[in-house]
Amino acid sequence: MNRLIITSNRLPVSIEKSEKSLTLTPSAGGLATGLKSYHKENDSVWIGWPGVTPTTKKEAGEITALLEQEQCLPVFLSEEQIVNYYDGFSNATLWPLFHYFGEFTEFNETYWESYYQVNLQFAEAIIANAKENDTVWVHDYQLLLVPNILREKRPDLRIGFFLHIPFPSYELIRILPWREEIIEGMLGADLLGFHTYDYARHFISSVKRLLGHDVEFNQIKLENRQVYIDVFPMGIDYNKFEKLALEVQSKPIQERSKEHQDIDRFLMGKPDRKIILSIDRLDYTKGIPERLKAFRHFLNKYPGYREQVSLIMLTVPSRTDVEQYQNLKNEVDILVGNINGEFGTLNWNPVIYFYRSMPFENLIELYSSADVALLTPLRDGMNLVAKEYIASKVNHKGALILSEMAGASRELGEAISVNPNNIPQTAEAIYKALTQSDKEREKAVLAMQKRIKRYDVHKWASEFMTALKSTIEKQLDHH
Ligand code: UDP
Repeated sequence: MNRLIITSNRLPVSIEKSEKSLTLTPSAGGLATGLKSYHKENDSVWIGWPGVTPTTKKEAGEITALLEQEQCLPVFLSEEQIVNYYDGFSNATLWPLFHYFGEFTEFNETYWESYYQVNLQFAEAIIANAKENDTVWVHDYQLLLVPNILREKRPDLRIGFFLHIPFPSYELIRILPWREEIIEGMLGADLLGFHTYDYARHFISSVKRLLGHDVEFNQIKLENRQVYIDVFPMGIDYNKFEKLALEVQSKPIQERSKEHQDIDRFLMGKPDRKIILSIDRLDYTKGIPERLKAFRHFLNKYPGYREQVSLIMLTVPSRTDVEQYQNLKNEVDILVGNINGEFGTLNWNPVIYFYRSMPFENLIELYSSADVALLTPLRDGMNLVAKEYIASKVNHKGALILSEMAGASRELGEAISVNPNNIPQTAEAIYKALTQSDKEREKAVLAMQKRIKRYDVHKWASEFMTALKSTIEKQLDHH
């Protein structure tokens, strides 16, 4: 394989600026982990935004030098580009539209122009660094136009693209004023990867209906080449979660975090007390109000569970500059307040609500302590939290309630599946999860663990790279 160039909106490291110095922090995110081995070998390079805007040429040079040590190359975005390309077209147009929130989708020419400009800037940075026949792997919805810009300017490059969010039905795509440009942008790739068959199928149907290309099974036939479509459900670093969960389990309680000791006190002497857990970014796609309503419904319908079960809800602040996210925060605050006000007692809070992020160790402790995970996105490309929870259940004692609208539900068929808009059904699912026998739970957890352990994030990356390689061989044979 030739040299690999990876590109994504954010680099796998971020730079922070303080008064005196610049500091570099590596990301622990899934993508960085999955691609680590490819990124480190064969003088591969990762191109993306480092998370800061330099104020002087000198500072830009310093940032570039710091990143170089990590085999990273920055694309700097101006304040104006952050507003129009990132907050604008990426997060106020594509994000809501691709998650079926048509009514939140903003159509704004300025956003679009900036999106095109930034995609061009990324493509130019790639071209300036790409040697003949290098392979480029482009990631996600912020860079949909990059594959075709590369194709036109550098036909020698081998191009893969992976979409980390859903690809919606044609009926959503068709309302976008720039729908042809977006699809053509993606078709610049040799191989396009999606999390699920549904997303791949929606993409193919949009290609047929908007551009009229012939499609044969998973190949789109363009005039002079073919584009391959395939499914690669992204996994997690399974062994890391399993190992840490085992460590947590074997540690005496006094040595665990304060939160974990608090949870332990909460449960002490109350063998019937149960914990339901949810973890997500505060995003309107995650179905947080629906989840709270289902929990309220459950407490009304099964009053015997009052004082016996709490919902620990960790919501991580996200895109706080965008209006819809601020409105959602208010809605969630009010709902949590209402439920705690209505049902709470001096020694019991029905909802234990955190609005912050937590260190990795705490996440593992939460996953380990929970009896039930309640994950109810209205739409979610994958939902890695569901997989992390299952991997952390080293004692196999946990139930998973998962929205059928999460990509992960395709692989986690043993979970208790719900339509998150169906509040009574979700409330019943909570009851079912709490009353399942240990044996039933164990059987489900073991089956899911086996599957996600095998197809972990390393496997995901290597399957994509192998498929890209064979796609290129097929293209070469074709000529
Ligand atoms: N996560 C985190 N810090 C937190 C809470 C969650 O780093 O305080 C991580 C979590 O472990 C998971 C990711 O955030 O890997 C969320 O991924 P997911 O696919 O569930 O949702 P997304 O945020 O990508 O929509």
